[in-house]
Amino acid sequence: MRIGKVLLVGAGPGDASLITVKGLLAIREAQVLVHDRLVNLELISQAPPNCQIINVGKTSNHHPVPQEQINQILIDHALASKNVVRLKGGDPYVFGRGGEEVESLSRYQIPFEVVPGISSSIGGLAYAGIPVTHRHYASSFHVVTGHMCQGNEPQNWNALAQLDGTLIVLMGMTRQEEICQLLIQGGKSPDTPAAAVMYASHQQQKMAKGTLCTLKDEIARQKLHAPALLVIGNVVNLSDVLAFTAQQTDINNKSLSLAI
Ligand code: SAH
Repeated sequence: MRIGKVLLVGAGPGDASLITVKGLLAIREAQVLVHDRLVNLELISQAPPNCQIINVGKTSNHHPVPQEQINQILIDHALASKNVVRLKGGDPYVFGRGGEEVESLSRYQIPFEVVPGISSSIGGLAYAGIPVTHRHYASSFHVVTGHMCQGNEPQNWNALAQLDGTLIVLMGMTRQEEICQLLIQGGKSPDTPAAAVMYASHQQQKMAKGTLCTLKDEIARQKLHAPALLVIGNVVNLSDVLAFTAQQTDINNKSLSLAI
């Protein structure tokens, strides 16, 4: 019997129209669509009417579907001759466990392709007016997870504090206060600009801006919570000039009319 193919597709950071052309075409032809919580519902609505939609979404402290089970869902449907789209927020290989999913497919010789997506760590920050690099302010950027792995500290914050580039922390909101403190203890100036960007590129996007010392108060004042990006470095200040209001684009509409 024919084995189905699995396409691991990056949905982009939130705004549905930030998906790639290849990703959108894959959704429109999917027989089974397996998606995460952060994926825009507008993209899911692009699946054909007879497509089976499976939500395996995870919330920050609650994992409704364990990773092994997600892997098995992909394997089972591919072995049942279905073409499967595994739709993940941002880019599938940036903290998305996409590598583990493809490894499990390869054990069964299931054909697969990866369709990269715009990661929230870069594109999401762009929507907040923060360029991750800038010739005058940051010549590197570093994307790390703030999430504790089985009770273990995931990063050497002392080492990260010594870097001059932009530091971007994913999955760090529940520990934001501690992370800022650890960076100060590691030698970063308490006055280093820092921001949290919630729901980047979604309509509900919200940003709290301050310094390593004051960010926690700004986050509390504006009631920000996960999902959010923490970003630390001088590029944060550029958002005063570079922030913009994104035009909402209908992904069914074939023309992109720019209101200039
Ligand atoms: N693969 C994804 C990241 C998955 S990890 C990517 O490339 O973007 C999930 C974390 O990413 C969240 O906890 C949050 O820190 C961040 N994140 C993803 N989408 C986001 C968004 N639209 N706004 C803010 N943070 C987001």
